[in-house]
Amino acid sequence: MNARPERFDAFMARANAAYYATHDPFADFVTGPELTQVFGELLGAWAKYVWQVMGAPEDVILAEAGPGRGVLMADALRAWPMRNVHFIESSPRLRAEQRARVPFATWHERLETLPPGPMIMLANEFLDALPVRQFVRRESGWCERFVRAGALVDLPSDYDLPDDPVGSVREVNEGALAFVRALAARGAVGLFIDYGPMESGAGDSVQAIRAGHYADPLAAPGEADITAHVDFGALKRAAHAQGPVKQNRFLSALGLFERTDRLAQANPAKAQPLRQSAHRLTEPEAMGSLFKVLCVCPPEFPTLPGFE
Ligand code: SAH
Repeated sequence: MNARPERFDAFMARANAAYYATHDPFADFVTGPELTQVFGELLGAWAKYVWQVMGAPEDVILAEAGPGRGVLMADALRAWPMRNVHFIESSPRLRAEQRARVPFATWHERLETLPPGPMIMLANEFLDALPVRQFVRRESGWCERFVRAGALVDLPSDYDLPDDPVGSVREVNEGALAFVRALAARGAVGLFIDYGPMESGAGDSVQAIRAGHYADPLAAPGEADITAHVDFGALKRAAHAQGPVKQNRFLSALGLFERTDRLAQANPAKAQPLRQSAHRLTEPEAMGSLFKVLCVCPPEFPTLPGFE
């Protein structure tokens, strides 16, 4: 077989589409909304507040990209009961899970098919699943990574990148950049929670999780969840935004601990897991400081809750 090299982002897109279509990702990793109902409730209350800042338009859309099992939205809708809910989800399997929790939602493959009008978009651990292009600096200049027969090959590239030392790796998430640009172009608000550094930098952040363990991203496409750190610096240059702030600062400002305490008092049997989850979301060694929150919004917006 004389396989043609496949650009790394195309490989990652294909592998992840197969993975999400056939696997239960939540057997492999845990996310904020899966840890505690408070996560989605706080985001629902936040979205309702933002809607009021927008002037409470009646036709507002509450959207979510990559809703997983639909837990975040189901929790959010308790804090902000509304019916005009749209999901962007590619996996038929996860769509079925989402339908079980939010039956009246409307599903889309991509942002472009959502109806026009005022919109608030939530996205937790969505952008990290989108494919990245990877470049590596060689003596001769920048090369782009391709995959051929299960191995990486570097081909010369004229992509415009900083003059990093030889051996450096740069990643570009074109899907994420296009997504935030499209939100900004329609004047929507987008709240993105994901892991990655505050500022752009060099480094290979691609990782794969297979059956709960780190794996070789190239080894078994479709069997592992492949992600890359989100480049919040690049997103902020692509669209007007507030943040990024660390997840612990954002969730604490929104009242994570107060809400957790109230629930724990009302339901002593759940007090321990609720408190543990709140800590896991905020402890710097756990999810508190690697995870960042960025809000894409029109430039004239006041500072929104969590971004003070
Ligand atoms: N937000 C959820 C799930 C995160 S997993 C949570 O926090 O629990 C990533 C989600 O993004 C899954 O629902 C996956 O199917 C979806 N997804 C990944 N790539 C996608 C793409 N290109 N288009 C639409 N959805 C995608």
